[in-house]
Amino acid sequence: MTFYKTKVRFLIFIASLGISLLSAQDQEVVISIDKLSSDVYMLTGQGGNIGIYVGQKNVFMIDDQFDRLSDKIKAAIASLTNKPVAFLFNTHMHGDHTGGNANFNTDLTTLVAHNNVRKRVMANQQKRLDDKKITEAYYSKMLPEVTFSEDITFYDNHETIMAFHVHNAHTDGDAMVYFVTNDVIHMGDTYFAGRYPYIDLKSGGSLQGYIDAHKKALMVISEETKIIPGHGRPSTKKELESYVSMLEDLKSKILAAIAAGESLEEVKSNNSISAAYDSTHGNGYIKPEVMREIFYKSLKSE
Ligand SMILES: [Zn+2]
Repeated sequence: MTFYKTKVRFLIFIASLGISLLSAQDQEVVISIDKLSSDVYMLTGQGGNIGIYVGQKNVFMIDDQFDRLSDKIKAAIASLTNKPVAFLFNTHMHGDHTGGNANFNTDLTTLVAHNNVRKRVMANQQKRLDDKKITEAYYSKMLPEVTFSEDITFYDNHETIMAFHVHNAHTDGDAMVYFVTNDVIHMGDTYFAGRYPYIDLKSGGSLQGYIDAHKKALMVISEETKIIPGHGRPSTKKELESYVSMLEDLKSKILAAIAAGESLEEVKSNNSISAAYDSTHGNGYIKPEVMREIFYKSLKSE
């Protein structure tokens, strides 16, 4: 009996610790706003960067971070405009870009994404539904309502918003969104500014597709274009160009190691491969060793 009580008290302690840590973490999240052009803003909080275009009558929104941050994100948008969000576009399926879908999905808002985003969000949310973590209503509100395979274009007064799919880059459902008149592009997680990229090989991503995605973006943008990366600070074409050179250099070094018969373990522990970039790009979520592992596995499977 005593043991039981102690155990219960211990579990209550752990549970309350968990709750207080979680709420402390949420309280710390502040949504900051960067104005990138006359009508386009970047919102940073926790998770992927959000793009906001304030149009003639409505707002076009790109990505929505985590479910628990939706109220803060709505407040940040309300500080810019009182126009409703007409479209919410998901650059890909990861939870730090689509987590708020259900909270933003009202009769006024249409969710748009690549076909494979809907498939993967559906599969992930089905698991949560089976585990009774979400309701049937929440499940259906999480899903993109309009999907496309290659590209889709939106028109708003003088602005043309071009969204286009890039194949097997960060995942198998990535799309970039380019605001032609405002000259701003949101690259989703096909670009991690100032840090090594995460490439989700299990969800159809690949290093070659990632590099090809950058080359496609470079063809579309100009020296003046503002780039919203999936993670990291707003960037320029020059910065994206030097990022692609880095990826190509790392790719050729890891290919050479593969040709020399180096194993995954050898490449993972071989610091010299990425020594030139580790101090500038190796301090993010993806550490140098993890980057070398992902690149090795991706190149090996091609
Ligand atoms: Zn992602």
